[in-house]
Amino acid sequence: MEDNWIPGFPPGTFNSILPIPAETSVQFLLAKSLVTWDENLVRSFFADPIAEQILQVPISRFGGDDFLSWPHDKLGTYSVKSGYNLTRSENFFSSTSEKGKGLASNIQVQEKEWKALWSVNCPNKMKIVLWRFVHDCLPTGFQLVRCHIPAEDGCFFCNRTERVEHLFLLCPFARSVWKGVKEEFSVRLCRKDMVNGRQWMFDFLAHASKLQATVVAITLWHIWEARNEHCSKPKPSPRRESSSSTLIWTPPPAGVVAVNVDAALFPSIRRMGMGFVARNHLGKCMFAGNEQLQGFSEPELAEALAIRRALEVCRSEGCLSIVLASDCLSMVNKIKSTAQDRSRVGTVISDIKSLPSGFTRCSFLHVRRGMNVAAHKLAC
Ligand SMILES: [Zn+2]
Repeated sequence: MEDNWIPGFPPGTFNSILPIPAETSVQFLLAKSLVTWDENLVRSFFADPIAEQILQVPISRFGGDDFLSWPHDKLGTYSVKSGYNLTRSENFFSSTSEKGKGLASNIQVQEKEWKALWSVNCPNKMKIVLWRFVHDCLPTGFQLVRCHIPAEDGCFFCNRTERVEHLFLLCPFARSVWKGVKEEFSVRLCRKDMVNGRQWMFDFLAHASKLQATVVAITLWHIWEARNEHCSKPKPSPRRESSSSTLIWTPPPAGVVAVNVDAALFPSIRRMGMGFVARNHLGKCMFAGNEQLQGFSEPELAEALAIRRALEVCRSEGCLSIVLASDCLSMVNKIKSTAQDRSRVGTVISDIKSLPSGFTRCSFLHVRRGMNVAAHKLAC
């Protein structure tokens, strides 16, 4: 209990409602099966905000050794880059400074960064795009989907996930634009060490000449305009779908069951839904299901929980030769990766990797959202 195991609540910053001996292990709060929390027990020992956090920590179905996890990295593994990024964040200064001593210097740094942004010599409409870029509040595909607005999150130019960093800096389209700009104005973008758009922008402005800052502001604005113009044109076919990719559901080979899985989040009521549908090579539905869980709000964790549940149902239904399809590319990649995932999702991914040992065939496939409609409808 003395370890730092509750996200957002380091030891020493709270007291339990009832006293817990320091040497007590977390297992004490698990149900008898050891695969779920004993919710009543958790709530009887901890105040609501802490109990909510604890109940969101997924428990492995198969146990496993404890491991240290670095919460500031996607895979839970410490890297110098993630440490550097943390020291730049607001919370770091306010939470680590003794009585907030570091806060003042951090505010000064931030003021300087914002001043550099607002003093770029360009029209206001371009400054607003800069500001929205830094705040990550431009309506990119990724942002729209994150806000549950019906949209595709794929880039209009290359179909990779359309985050601001991708659209403005990493997309092949953006790269071709920057190539010309770099040659003309000796602008060095330094995208290699980029942690996120905000940090990249402030680092760039800190070292750029006035002309370079203006050139970058103008270029970003034109990329955004070009993107908007491109996506407003009527398209004869679904965007970025090549002739070989299809939006029609493709049946699996005979003897194999195709299982489509999806998760949906309802942040306002802090609930997630999961849906799955299993079909044979004739397209006939073998079984389908949906479930809802309270308290989960992380998209990736929701996808992982849905996949784990679908695998468990397949096993109990005796479907042991399956192709499992999800439209969450990052999750499919994580399942296929051999790297250890020390993040919160890692526990569930580890379960997902263990489950197929009882199957005769189990492969994981990423499909377009349009091919996952049945599972999505069930999840909602
Ligand atoms: Zn792109």
